[in-house]
Amino acid sequence: MGLRTPEQYVESLRQQSPEVYARGERITNVADHPLFASTMACWGSWVCRAAHMPELRAGMVVSPDLNGEECHVFWHMATSVEDLLTNLRAARTLSERSPLSGYASIGRDQLQSLLIVTRRMDRELGTSYHPRVVSYVQRFQREQLMTAAAVTDVKGDRSKRPADQDDPDLYLRVIERRDDGIVVRGAKAHTSGSVVANELVIIPQRAMRPEDADYAVAFATPVDTPGIKLVCRGFSGENPDEFEAPVSSHDDLMESFTIFDDVFVPWERVFMCGESAYAGDVANTFANVNRQGYLGADVGKLRLFIGAAQLAAELNGVAKAPHIRSKITEMIRLERSIWALGVTASIESRSEEGWQVPDPVLTNAGKHMAMEGHYLAARNLLEIAGGSVITSPYVEDIMRPDLRPFIEKYYRGVEPDSAMERLRVMKLIRDLAASEYGGYWYTEIIHGSGSPEAEKLQMYREHDLDACVGLARHALLGRAAVGERPVVGV
Ligand SMILES: Cc1cc2nc3c(=O)[nH]c(=O)nc-3n(C[C@H](O)[C@H](O)[C@H](O)COP(=O)(O)OP(=O)(O)OC[C@H]3O[C@@H](n4cnc5c(N)ncnc54)[C@H](O)[C@@H]3O)c2cc1C
Repeated sequence: MGLRTPEQYVESLRQQSPEVYARGERITNVADHPLFASTMACWGSWVCRAAHMPELRAGMVVSPDLNGEECHVFWHMATSVEDLLTNLRAARTLSERSPLSGYASIGRDQLQSLLIVTRRMDRELGTSYHPRVVSYVQRFQREQLMTAAAVTDVKGDRSKRPADQDDPDLYLRVIERRDDGIVVRGAKAHTSGSVVANELVIIPQRAMRPEDADYAVAFATPVDTPGIKLVCRGFSGENPDEFEAPVSSHDDLMESFTIFDDVFVPWERVFMCGESAYAGDVANTFANVNRQGYLGADVGKLRLFIGAAQLAAELNGVAKAPHIRSKITEMIRLERSIWALGVTASIESRSEEGWQVPDPVLTNAGKHMAMEGHYLAARNLLEIAGGSVITSPYVEDIMRPDLRPFIEKYYRGVEPDSAMERLRVMKLIRDLAASEYGGYWYTEIIHGSGSPEAEKLQMYREHDLDACVGLARHALLGRAAVGERPVVGV
């Protein structure tokens, strides 16, 4: 089929009829509804378009995929260090122009995890899931299917495991096994981009015990499968004016509360069903792969923050002030540190069942730093820009002929005719850090791709603590630790 164009992608959305709800409305035409325009532009059209742009194509297209063809990097499964680095760079490039687009590989990341874990399962248990995943991935790549990731369960009482909940449906589960497939019931929370996706990929969120076997389920299904309801929430359509919202007018990642009201899935689309011992492997491998790309995307967004801060400082005439330079330097330090963790996580990656998996400790350390970095960078950006970020007039008033001379006279910075440029930069900063979109980021950066405590758990679990303890024990040897004669007891 070749690389999908934005037009082909939008046309594919017109061919499907998911059950979508937003703001009390049952929405039938997603592709033309203004509420979904920014999400469609960011996750779908822009990601597809980038692979057709001559200046970006080289970084967006790789080969071979599982069909032996060339493929968009966000649909490609990494088998080498170079593949991981290409993914990191592509996520950065995409997010520099549309910050949330760098996360659009999330469905690919689930499938990479399933490729790895099902191969292991088939070998150890004699199941036959892996060929199904391979065949699904071949279609995913051939048609460049846009998939959304339904991982996070609604969970009810967070202190209880799936089978211990009062209501058995608080984690997605298999309620019936038939000759032709399974029926699942439950709900997944926060499914990014589902409304503009072609298919959903569903995997378990956590490790499971034998008694949780019905909850150890993974599959892929079209978004318009009967019984699936997408209850969507985002901020697009609130403020689409490009002057007021230069980034969020085309950058959104609408999430859905995704209900599975007794949904039938044929066996050829089922990738795990009851193998509870492997659920944690799928969840952790996915998190690892996904967080590596997250670092590239975060760096793209931070570079935009740095640029906006420098522009505001120049327009305000304070770019050379020591405290301003120090704040921008701090932002650069964070951006470069997160990038360094992304690069080293890729270089120190390992091959699992033939696919390349980033180093989990470095990846999670980077993800954690991305959260800390976002708050610090946003604070510096707002401090550098000044209060006009949130108080400058509405665009309608800025453009009024009777007010315009006052705006141009009093909103100027260093240069006499700089008012409009300065206002545009203030609106950009408002959009990034002080708008509803900015507020979305303050939560996204904490919980998106997993909460901070989950990252810490992974770092603690995966770090080579035994080796560190060994070093500490060795240090007890004193001089003998470095090959010299011990002088104990003098
Ligand atoms: C913008 C955004 C986009 C997202 N996109 C997706 C997506 O595309 N697909 C998807 O599947 N998910 C997605 N997520 C979900 C994300 O992974 C979750 O938000 C995250 O895992 C936290 O789960 P939760 O929101 O249910 O919060 P909770 O699990 O309720 O966590 C709230 C707090 O409670 C703590 N906590 C939870 N359980 C325990 C426990 N047993 N013991 C002690 N402390 C506990 C957590 O550490 C956290 O601090 C997205 C989230 C956001 C915000």
